[in-house]
Amino acid sequence: MTTLRLILGDQLNPEHSWYRTVRDDTVYVLMEIRQETDYTLHHAQKVLAIFAAMRDFARHLREAGHRVRFVAIDDPSNRQSLTANLDALVQHYQATAFAHQAPDEHRLDAQLSDWCQAQAARGLQVSVADTEHFLSARDEAARLFGDSRHWLMERFYRHMRQHHRVLMQADAPRQPEGGQWNFDHDNRKAWSGTPAAPADWRHHHDHRALWATIEASGVRTFGDPQADDGRWPLNRQEALADLEAFVTQALPHFGDYQDALSGEASGRQWRLFHSLLSFALNVKMLQPAEVIAAAEGAFHSGRVPLAAAEGFIRQILGWREYVRGVYWAHMPGYTERNALSHHLPLPAWFWTGEVKMACMRQAVGQSLQHAYAHHIQRLMVIGNFALLAGLDAQAVHQWYLGVYIDAFEWVEAPNTLGMSQFADGGVIATKPYVSSAAYLDRMGDHCKGCAYQRKERLGERACPFNALYWDFHLRHAELLRRNPRIGMVYKQIDKMDAAQREAIATQADTWRARLDTL
Ligand code: FAD
Repeated sequence: MTTLRLILGDQLNPEHSWYRTVRDDTVYVLMEIRQETDYTLHHAQKVLAIFAAMRDFARHLREAGHRVRFVAIDDPSNRQSLTANLDALVQHYQATAFAHQAPDEHRLDAQLSDWCQAQAARGLQVSVADTEHFLSARDEAARLFGDSRHWLMERFYRHMRQHHRVLMQADAPRQPEGGQWNFDHDNRKAWSGTPAAPADWRHHHDHRALWATIEASGVRTFGDPQADDGRWPLNRQEALADLEAFVTQALPHFGDYQDALSGEASGRQWRLFHSLLSFALNVKMLQPAEVIAAAEGAFHSGRVPLAAAEGFIRQILGWREYVRGVYWAHMPGYTERNALSHHLPLPAWFWTGEVKMACMRQAVGQSLQHAYAHHIQRLMVIGNFALLAGLDAQAVHQWYLGVYIDAFEWVEAPNTLGMSQFADGGVIATKPYVSSAAYLDRMGDHCKGCAYQRKERLGERACPFNALYWDFHLRHAELLRRNPRIGMVYKQIDKMDAAQREAIATQADTWRARLDTL
């Protein structure tokens, strides 16, 4: 009578109730499979970090006395498919029961539920456990929003604050701490070098042997596997140390510089005061509740200002849970959306970082180097450019899904296709997140040494963001003109004469025709 319990690569939570008792009749199964390395082209560091963490998790379970079957990428018995391996393992262990934790990706959810259905018909006892990770149910956002056209994150966030009693006044339980729900307006400072950005506090790991195994197994990746010295956490202990370092060293300034960009003049700080916790959260080494509690505790003990704690908590209690709700409410189908019919292929420099636009060079370059870019780089630099240029929404989605260390479809797709590319037609974003060079210049120092001129709209030296910005609104006027949040843009367009509009369209066409050499 053996039960197999499957642990997926993003289910590395040692605190899960599964592990409270050690049972001889239970075998925990982890597998490194080509199915998971190959569903898109991944950054080498992402494959390495996940495999290394899975191996460490298996070690931890064995040390705690559990039975573990780890199917390594180069294991001769590895059939490289989740369900083909499960078939073999059920046979091998003569298993009578199988359990898995609910997957966060629709792709795996569908695959496992089909497989379980077929196995149940053959007499295997199957069950699905909760991951015990998120603070909302898969369908909580759908229930809250019903059939509203726009799903406003702010509404969901307030619901979550009240429901989980986070940053609420002690003596007025329905009132937010500080009398305000949101300090977003205080969180928009540019950064010019002070306060100093903290040094990287994360651990180092030597993944060379694991990398050799991965390469020898024929897994295709991009990006430098060791450029960051293997610094993504291996396990919960390391992730907890990273959380502590973040709360002490960076959270006090997180709010102020949350939207800032750092270029050449300010030392190209690639993460500024951001936490770098998304990988640990998404593979479930860390629980969102404990990360939120750490930030809230730091506020209550006077170590961080309210605006910083609130700004950070909003990302996790608000955005992270909200995008998951959007994903499950709109899958399947969401990942195929392309509401603006954008179809241009990605320029070659998305794979090299070799582009003359300083902000893009930094954001794409560090994505390739660290498998990481912070939120504003993802949204207002790379995403902004992709949307203005009209890059293929699905190609953009696949690039984001592959390049970032924290990219799992449930969180990546709503952010990329919804928030960034407006490909869902406005479920998440009430207007497209786009800007000309003026915004980028305000939020950072990239424009200073750039080959392009931030104030020019036309000509070889003009910043491409400018003509592309106006052309985007001209091209999509039918869809966007009536949007009250963009009214000002169309007022300015209406003041332009036909020749000005023509010149913008021609300039934008010129940029689009030579994207590879920008
Ligand atoms: P911090 O800035 O320190 O924020 C703290 C935490 O809040 C993050 O670790 C993350 O868990 C959460 N968070 C912040 N913003 C969001 C958000 N919009 N949605 C969900 N969670 C959020 N996040 C991912 O985890 N995986 C992705 O694949 C991903 N793709 C993105 C694609 C685009 C186009 C955009 C605009 C954003 C994307 N994000 C994604 C959200 C966000 O950019 C990252 O979570 C963040 O940059 C991770 O770095 P950090 O841990 O230093 O975050």
